[in-house]
Amino acid sequence: MSFNIAIDGPAGAGKSTIAKRAAKELQFVYVDTGAMYRAIALGILRFGANVEEEASLLDALDQIEVSIGYEGGEQQVYLNGENVSGLIRTEEVSRMASTAAAKPQVRAKLTQLQRDLAKRENVLMDGRDIGTAILPQAQLKIYLTASVHTRAMRRYKEQTERGESCSLAEIERDIEERDHRDMHRETAPLCQAEDAVLVDSSDMTIEEVVECILKLARERM
Ligand code: C5P
Repeated sequence: MSFNIAIDGPAGAGKSTIAKRAAKELQFVYVDTGAMYRAIALGILRFGANVEEEASLLDALDQIEVSIGYEGGEQQVYLNGENVSGLIRTEEVSRMASTAAAKPQVRAKLTQLQRDLAKRENVLMDGRDIGTAILPQAQLKIYLTASVHTRAMRRYKEQTERGESCSLAEIERDIEERDHRDMHRETAPLCQAEDAVLVDSSDMTIEEVVECILKLARERM
C-alpha cells in the first residue's frame, strides 16, 4: 500500500517549498494540486467562460483536460496537452483559480486524478482539502499555516527581490480575501482535519519546518 502525506494550509504558508524539499528527502512524489486548479483557471480564462453561469462553466470544463507529469523531478502541469507550468503563476490566474475552486463542478474534475496518483505512489500532496476530502485515509496530515502578516511579508520580499513594485498593504488584503474565499466556500473549504498536526511556520525557518515534517513521517512509516 502506498504511504500518503497530506499538507494543507492557506496561500503563502510555504507549503510548496517545504513539501518539495520533504518529498525529495523521503523519495516521495510531490503533487502540487494548486497547479491543477491554476491550469483549469487558465483554461477558463482562455475560453472566456463565465464561471458564475453554469452552462458556460460546464461547456468550458468539457473542453479542458488537465494532467501532470515530471521533468527532472519537477512537476509539470498540462492543459490539453500543452505544458502551461510557466503561465499559471500570474495574479490573474491566482484570482481565477480561487474563484473557480469554489465550484463543485471544478473540484469534481480533479478529485479522481488526485486519488489515483495517491493510490499508485507514495505521495506528498499539498493543497487545501487533501487531508479532509481527497485523502482522508492519509497516514500523515499536516496543517501548515502562518500569520497573515508573515505570509504577506514573504510575498512582498519575493516580489521586491524580483524588482516588481508592490504594496505590503495590498498584498495583505489580497491574502485575507483569498483566505476568506478558500475557508468559507461550501464545497471542501480549507480547514484543519481533526487528525492533522498543526504547524505554525510564522517563527520557523524552512529547514525547521522540513525537519519537523520528516520526523513525523519517519515515525509513522
Ligand atoms: O496552492 P495555490 O495557491 O497554487 O492554489 C491556487 C488556488 O487553488 C487556491 O487559492 C485555492 O483556492 C485552490 N485550491 C483548492 N484546493 C486545492 C488546491 C488549491 O481549492 N487542493
